[in-house]
Amino acid sequence: MSDKKDKDLPDTDELQKMLQDMFGKLGGGAAVPFPGFSESDGDTDEGEGDDTPMEIDRADAIFDFNYKPRDIKSYLDRFVIRQDEAKKALSIAVCDHYNHAKFMRGLEQEHGKIPDGIEYQKQNVIVVGPTGVGKTYLIKHIAEMIGVPFVKADATKFSETGYVGGDVDDLVRELVQKADGDVDLAEYGIVYIDEIDKLAGSGGTMGRDVSGRGVQTTLLKLMEETEVAARNPNDMKGQMMAMMDFQNGKEGGKDTINTRHILFIVSGAFSGLEKVIKRRLRSGQIGFGAEVVDPNDAELFNEASTQDYIDFGFEAEFIGRLPVRVVCDKLEAKDFVNIMKNSEGSLLRQYEREFAAYGIQAKFEDSAIKRIAERAETENTGARALMTVCESMLRDFKFELPGTAVSELSIDADLIDKHDEILAKYRELGQRVDVAKAREEADLYCRQFQEKHNIKISLTDEAVSLLGLEAASQGRSVLQISQQRFKDLQFGLKLIQKNTGQGEFELNEEAVEDADKFLSDRVVQSYTDAAEAKQAAKSQENESSSSEPFIE
Ligand code: ADP
Repeated sequence: MSDKKDKDLPDTDELQKMLQDMFGKLGGGAAVPFPGFSESDGDTDEGEGDDTPMEIDRADAIFDFNYKPRDIKSYLDRFVIRQDEAKKALSIAVCDHYNHAKFMRGLEQEHGKIPDGIEYQKQNVIVVGPTGVGKTYLIKHIAEMIGVPFVKADATKFSETGYVGGDVDDLVRELVQKADGDVDLAEYGIVYIDEIDKLAGSGGTMGRDVSGRGVQTTLLKLMEETEVAARNPNDMKGQMMAMMDFQNGKEGGKDTINTRHILFIVSGAFSGLEKVIKRRLRSGQIGFGAEVVDPNDAELFNEASTQDYIDFGFEAEFIGRLPVRVVCDKLEAKDFVNIMKNSEGSLLRQYEREFAAYGIQAKFEDSAIKRIAERAETENTGARALMTVCESMLRDFKFELPGTAVSELSIDADLIDKHDEILAKYRELGQRVDVAKAREEADLYCRQFQEKHNIKISLTDEAVSLLGLEAASQGRSVLQISQQRFKDLQFGLKLIQKNTGQGEFELNEEAVEDADKFLSDRVVQSYTDAAEAKQAAKSQENESSSSEPFIE
């Protein structure tokens, strides 16, 4: 009886499989990764955790950290235009942070634990600046350069869910996901939280007091030092998987993530903070406020004191954990020109690549770059507007030109100012046959055909212009049309070859107009030719045998 019962019970493997199936179907819980289980998209169907990267100590590789602030700034200069002060301050903060982390790691490895009594104030950073000026871009490139995981979130995500705690911890867990499950590496990652100003209780915004303060308190703990559970307690799927790992005797890595060496960078536009600063400066009799009647925001933000941030609505303890303050400047049209021309990440390169994929060589002229920059400035969304402007200017061209005879697109001020007129011009151009291009594609087709079927073919000029016309009217390429039109050509040609020994074939207008008829005529002809040749050979043989001298 008991035997039977035991038999009915699934064994560990079966149970594990059942649970995996079940959770796979449920799509389960928050997409929270956990060590020892590689998970890329929140779906845990795949991967049994065996090939975890836990053994390879990537964190150690990182801690060959040997950069100087100047190295980091030079790297950032390649991508980010302006923001020199921000680049400097961030480079220093990052170097200090990771040098300290490296030092502590060295001590830990030497002594087996971190020795007591080493004082260090973490260099968490607050970045002030309007949207689209490169805040995220800077931090993303820093993380990329030093090879640490990086996560970004908006603070509003936390405040809107009311009184939270767990959500903020998820950010830290997300670092583990970014580090492919490597908790050790995640413990040196960078967490970037935008829109932090929305957590301020008064002054700037209204109605966020309770949740905003709550989130500040939770963040405070993370920024200082705390242990975050590697698995979300509300993530049933994660918990069950961990249990199964445990059951199978798998280590599963660390259970908690220590935030001691995680670098926190927060940012926001802080609109309203300038008023707080101005008020303070005006109330003082001398200095900045007295001399400059209306300084711009960037200048003012550089003057922000800890008390200003508190008056703006932050908790004193919270702002105290963010000792490095950085201001990013608003970008103007000339900066946008610079971004388009000189940043390695310029979106002009992206557009050129996108057009090139359709065989169209797009070139941005200076006149267009200037115009795009001017338009982008009026959008007030920083460099993000560049994409918006280019997209709306070029969308029709990107849709209509691929597959036509157009092989070059000159993007100049006219194209932007007289969009419809220039589009019509290109549309017309697209209908014309570009003979040279058609010949190029036709020859390419012939080469491909020879490589594939070992039969040499060529197309006459008339055949190529006919194909070119068809291609232009259908918005397709000569290559595409040839591939389709002549797709069965090799069978007939091989027969002809067999019958007549012909090695090379020329395709004319007839072949383009009706490939089947062209081929069948030729095949029939080849049989006739073969028969005739045979006949001729035979009679020649007879003739020669009858004319042979008779020898007795
Ligand atoms: P935010 O300041 O709101 O974080 P981002 O850094 O996300 O803005 O900028 C959006 C995009 O605009 C970036 O991905 C980048 O392509 C471009 N960009 C923004 N600022 C700059 C800059 N100073 N130099 C070069 N590109 C920039």
